[in-house]
Amino acid sequence: MTVAVIRAEGPREARRAIELLGGMGRFVSPGEKVLVKPNICAAKTSESGAVTDPELVAEVCCMAAEEGGEVVVGESPIHPFRSSRVFPRAGYGDFQERYGFPLLDLDAAEKVEIRIPGGMVVREEVVARPVLECDALINVPVMKTHLQTVVSLGLKNLKGVVPTRDKLIIHLRGLDQGIVDLNTVIRSRLVVVDGLVGMEGALGPTNGRPVRLGVIVAGDNVVEVDATCARIMGADPREIPHIRLAAERGLGRLEGYEVLGDGVEAVRREFELPARPDLNRFMISGILLRIYDLIRRPLDRLLGRSPTFRFGEVRLEAERCDGCRICVRACPVEAVSMEGNLPRIDARSCIACFCCAEACPRGALSRA
Ligand code: SF4
Ligand code: SF4
Repeated sequence: MTVAVIRAEGPREARRAIELLGGMGRFVSPGEKVLVKPNICAAKTSESGAVTDPELVAEVCCMAAEEGGEVVVGESPIHPFRSSRVFPRAGYGDFQERYGFPLLDLDAAEKVEIRIPGGMVVREEVVARPVLECDALINVPVMKTHLQTVVSLGLKNLKGVVPTRDKLIIHLRGLDQGIVDLNTVIRSRLVVVDGLVGMEGALGPTNGRPVRLGVIVAGDNVVEVDATCARIMGADPREIPHIRLAAERGLGRLEGYEVLGDGVEAVRREFELPARPDLNRFMISGILLRIYDLIRRPLDRLLGRSPTFRFGEVRLEAERCDGCRICVRACPVEAVSMEGNLPRIDARSCIACFCCAEACPRGALSRA
């Protein structure tokens, strides 16, 4: 198995990365139904680093079509966002007119319940029918951080094959193992990672800082691609739970595979990574957190910072919040309510899944 890493001036260079792997003919045969799955999680452009560049997606589609594939693109954004609002704002509104490939709203597609034999936390899941009916899934994520899973790459990108709020079940049962469970049955035949503009910081996957990296990574094994991208981002893949778990469950290797092109060291750039969840939990005791919370607000006022509130494991930066209520709809356990124009979280009900922070369009919510 092989991974190609290239410095890239623009999205069309995805072709060069795929050619290094032996060309698209290795992955797509004439007449096959191909589903290309980008990351269009939120109403942000690819310049933000949150979503895959539409031109890069189009290039992958063209290559698959040149091999005789019947190509469609499909995505379900973060719950509770609507595709009808997200796709145009992410630069995908005229994708079919511009490039000739249909863009399917997986939230509107027929839902099919599948079994996940050997699933550790998720044994049944709902998946959009076009995902099950395709012969080849080409996974096209963007290189970015994630406040709960540290990074969001190829393994994590598959959560978007689960429509609407059905994807919350993975958060409820355990995101790291749930992502791996899903990847055991929905397999990526080819992974092409958009690292042209990535995202770093604790507010990924939607509200972090853009990183102009100018890199494209492609490979035939999702674990190996993710391990390579983690190293490019300055992380050890063995310390990223979902990548390590995927390797332990036999989905791919963390090392010992071939890397072609420019290689990791030539393009490596330390991303600011979110703290790993277990560090928060084990290094600071609950008592210390309470003391810190007592002094945080007067300290914020003294330093002229936006007032912050901590509800269990979630932090709200009040001045960023515009009272849109999206966090109320995003929460799978109804722990969020509004108190005036600000959300209030019932810390006893909160399961620290961070769906609210993922969905907040203004980056007002984060890990405490
Ligand atoms: S915290 Fe974010 S999602 Fe919730 S009301 Fe404020 S801006 Fe909206
Ligand atoms: S309030 Fe807690 S349970 Fe609800 S979405 Fe946020 S982190 Fe998850």
